[in-house]
Amino acid sequence: MKPRRRFGQHFLQPPWIARVLAVAAFGPGDRVLEIGPGRGALTGPLSERVSELAAVEIDRDLAAFLRGRLPARVRIIEGDVLEADPAALFGPPGGPPWRVAGNLPYCASSPIMFRLLELARTTARVRDATVMLQREVADRMASPPGSRHYGALSILVQLDADVERLLTLPPQAFKPPPDVWSALVRLHFRPPAVAVRDRRQFEAMVRSLFSGRRKMLSNAVKPFASARGLDGAAVARDAGLDPTRRPETLDLRDLSRLADLLCRT
Ligand code: SAM
Repeated sequence: MKPRRRFGQHFLQPPWIARVLAVAAFGPGDRVLEIGPGRGALTGPLSERVSELAAVEIDRDLAAFLRGRLPARVRIIEGDVLEADPAALFGPPGGPPWRVAGNLPYCASSPIMFRLLELARTTARVRDATVMLQREVADRMASPPGSRHYGALSILVQLDADVERLLTLPPQAFKPPPDVWSALVRLHFRPPAVAVRDRRQFEAMVRSLFSGRRKMLSNAVKPFASARGLDGAAVARDAGLDPTRRPETLDLRDLSRLADLLCRT
């Protein structure tokens, strides 16, 4: 079976499988949902370590391949994790929370991360997610305010999760090798760090602000504020923020105060 580019297939190579599993440290008692099992590099060893394992794979040929090779107690779900119903992924309610694992397709890693954040928030059935991403995406997710990689992705992830970096891998850890380095990170889901009334508007505000991350706050906030009949500099001051600050220095509490003023409807 040739790797399918459209599904972002880069298969983890044997020398790296044990290292990834060692740092991921799944064990007895864990219920794991794997996203994109591929040819089963992680799925096989995981099936011997954890109490319950489900795996969702979009490529129907790989799903069939895995069904023929893995023990019957591994639940293979054929489908797109972005569209799958939570009940199909996690089964009937009850039992311990799920832990998600996956060497994600890099072409879809952001939508999958946002889907996971949403599933964790809305179902309260997901404890954490241990995922392989492009190193650059991992940098952005883990960055604190003021740092070079801090931006909309950092904020939207850190609103609902603590990010822990576990391992960095070179392109040769995969076949075919991707063009970029990779990083294994764990997201520990938790209640939101700050109160956000309207998530859709909060996200729109953050994305609008960070499209001008080096502008002064009074200017960066202007497009979003003017569309709501508000003055950017006045909103910044009312939120207790110096209008000459740059968006890249704002933390979640600063952004939540801005959102309280800007996202009222
Ligand atoms: N886990 C395997 C490994 O480490 O060798 C494969 C990893 S490969 C980078 C990504 C896997 O995700 C592929 O098997 C691909 O077919 C699958 N995939 C891509 N998009 C998906 C989606 N939306 N839902 C479920 N699986 C997906």
